Amino acid sequence: MRNERKTKRFPVFQLHHLDFAEYELLFPLMSDEKEDQICLEKPVIGVSRCLLGDRVRYDGSGERTPWIVEILSTHCDLLPLCPEVEAGLGVPRPPVRLVRNDDTLAVVGREDSSLDVTEALSRVWKDRRNDVVGMDGLILKSRSPSCGVADTPVFSETGTESTRGPGVFTRQCVEAFPLLPLIDELSLENEVGRVSFLIQVFRYRCRRLQALPH
Ligand code: SF4
Repeated sequence: MRNERKTKRFPVFQLHHLDFAEYELLFPLMSDEKEDQICLEKPVIGVSRCLLGDRVRYDGSGERTPWIVEILSTHCDLLPLCPEVEAGLGVPRPPVRLVRNDDTLAVVGREDSSLDVTEALSRVWKDRRNDVVGMDGLILKSRSPSCGVADTPVFSETGTESTRGPGVFTRQCVEAFPLLPLIDELSLENEVGRVSFLIQVFRYRCRRLQALPH
């Protein structure tokens, strides 16, 4: 009975016909009421707005990702975010990049290094933090100085690429919520990445909602 209910009532996991033996591991001591609370509402996933096709990138383009827009959106509640627009940087806007100077990481203009938007972007995190508390995962745009998950170029002050890492918004998310599942659109291009992310979302959601007071 419980097995029948699980796919009917937690439809995101029908996406890839997952075998939810794991479901029983995660719910062993849960009351039906708590299980209802977890299953009946859709998971909440924050998404970089440009991946939904919104034309918010620095050059006025979008980066629509069909699997997110056409498939995932029917199984999850997607919460769009764009740190650079929310920081008031406008569209179009001068492109920025990450620059490391000793221990500090700054977000400065790619062509005009006197343009420093580090402070403006960190204010976005303060506004968005409460939304992230209610998320079960985040899908973020690769290589972005704000949203990149792991592959955003970081430059030295002399202008050479010294390493790669997360964008500034992602760094703040990881610092505050180290277990929150994060992925970029490139890692969702194949089945393995999608299934792995959904399982992480499922686990995180169970633990997040179980921790809420009744
Ligand atoms: S990568 Fe992030 S900051 Fe850049 S346009 Fe997309 S949502 Fe906005």
